[in-house]
Amino acid sequence: MTELLPNYAAGRWQTGSGPGTSLLDPVLGTELVRVDSTGLNLPEAFELAREQGGQALRKLTYRERAAMLSAVVKLLQSHRDAYYEIATANSGTVKNDSAVDIDGGIFTLGTYAKLGESLGDRCYLLDGEAARLGKDPLFQSQHVLVPTRGVALFINAFNFPSWGLWEKAAPALLSGVPVIIKPATSTAWLTQRMVRDVVDAGILPAGALSVICGSSVGLMDQLQAFDVVSFTGSAETAAVIRSHPAVAQRSVRVNMEADSVNSAWLLPDMSTDSQAFELLVKEVVREMTVKSGQKCTAIRRVLVPQAHYQAAAQAISARLAKVAVGNPRNESVRMGSLVSRAQLVAVKDGLAYLKAQATVLHDGASVPLVDADSAIACCVGPTLLGVQDADGADRIHDTEVFGPVRLIRRGQGSLVASIYGEDPANLATAALELADSHGRVHVISPDVAALHTGHGNVMPQSLHGGPGRAGGGEELGGLRAINFYHRRSAVQASTSVLSQLAS
Ligand code: NAP
Repeated sequence: MTELLPNYAAGRWQTGSGPGTSLLDPVLGTELVRVDSTGLNLPEAFELAREQGGQALRKLTYRERAAMLSAVVKLLQSHRDAYYEIATANSGTVKNDSAVDIDGGIFTLGTYAKLGESLGDRCYLLDGEAARLGKDPLFQSQHVLVPTRGVALFINAFNFPSWGLWEKAAPALLSGVPVIIKPATSTAWLTQRMVRDVVDAGILPAGALSVICGSSVGLMDQLQAFDVVSFTGSAETAAVIRSHPAVAQRSVRVNMEADSVNSAWLLPDMSTDSQAFELLVKEVVREMTVKSGQKCTAIRRVLVPQAHYQAAAQAISARLAKVAVGNPRNESVRMGSLVSRAQLVAVKDGLAYLKAQATVLHDGASVPLVDADSAIACCVGPTLLGVQDADGADRIHDTEVFGPVRLIRRGQGSLVASIYGEDPANLATAALELADSHGRVHVISPDVAALHTGHGNVMPQSLHGGPGRAGGGEELGGLRAINFYHRRSAVQASTSVLSQLAS
């Protein structure tokens, strides 16, 4: 039997009492470890985090909490090799793709450590200036932001076991709010290992960071009025969480990051020999292949002027044909595996569904695998589908398998859209057109060809999340992220009282 990973709950390591769920190597099919949360005393775990963890964190200033985050960064960096090994084994990712998750997570944490430093030696924040409430200036209103006195429950998706943890935990811990993370079961190992390293190093106060792996049953039931829950995953599970009594009746604050049919758009004034065309092709291929397309921000729809349809199809297909797919341990492989058999089935089903309305321009199914047995490995080549009548193909706009604005908007709200062009005025106009339906608009012009951070890369300085089908959530965006973990209150008092708050 493989190791049953312990959970860290109520300030101690404890294994579940059940046999556990096996985590598998998606390339080799072998069992790696098991996870289980059966029998954990969840009320005790939430209470300890809320009371002990919360109190200890709130006693610290932002600067002190930022220093803690810096210490976590250093610790995680010292264990990077172990994390890469786990990612290869459990997520089937090539080194560059593991980096997006592992180093991306550490970078985000480091960014919040620096941002937190700038908040100084305070335990709460002032929000704007004091405002007069009447003619006499003596009685005024000052908004303050104070850390919520609850716990932050994170329910995460399988595709980012590291980044998904730290992009949420960094602003929460900086705000003084304890964290309980429940990673997606299939890839929970990396999250569990990172938490284990941090807990064992004793960097955080007791109860500040807990990890519960395995079933989600009962977690939402623990949430109380001042707790928050941040969910990343499918639209179906998001709907279940939204309708849970904790959210619907107890007003637990919730942030949702769900699925998204992100798009890339070549502006109509661009020719096929423009640099913008070339940049679009390159970015689309990168987005289709990084993490085998299992990135929430990946480009799912490419919109080009009708006249460029064939040229775009050929240029993208030519690059995709050079991508070696298979065992991430083989140096020649550029695209590893999907994370599980279930995902492989979902991708195949999704493709079949889309193919009913689209033409196959580059067929990933026929790509031979490198060093991997197609009967076992959850690998699939990148597939490019084409549609000439984009208005008539509703499935393309509605289905996340992983022209113009009106068409992009048919995604019903997305995390990110990228725009390719050369004229600054046209690009700026297009960006504003898309801003209301996207959490992020990534504009690529020749002057930033070598500088831009990538359509799919979520930078901690920029907002992550999107309206409508994307979940309606907001994460990151620099210090904006800490709003979720603070409560805003208007203190109405005499100017002498308010001056105490400002000191
Ligand atoms: P999922 O099946 O919805 O699972 C997400 C998480 O919810 C997992 O931890 C899962 O636990 C848990 N869960 C399942 N049922 C639950 C319930 N009834 N109550 C509470 N928690 C429950 O999603 P997934 O398949 O892991 O993730 C893929 C989706 O996530 C894709 O659509 C992708 O676009 C989206 N995603 C979005 C973002 C973003 O930032 N917007 C980022 C990454 C992924 P178990 O694993 O134990 O079932």
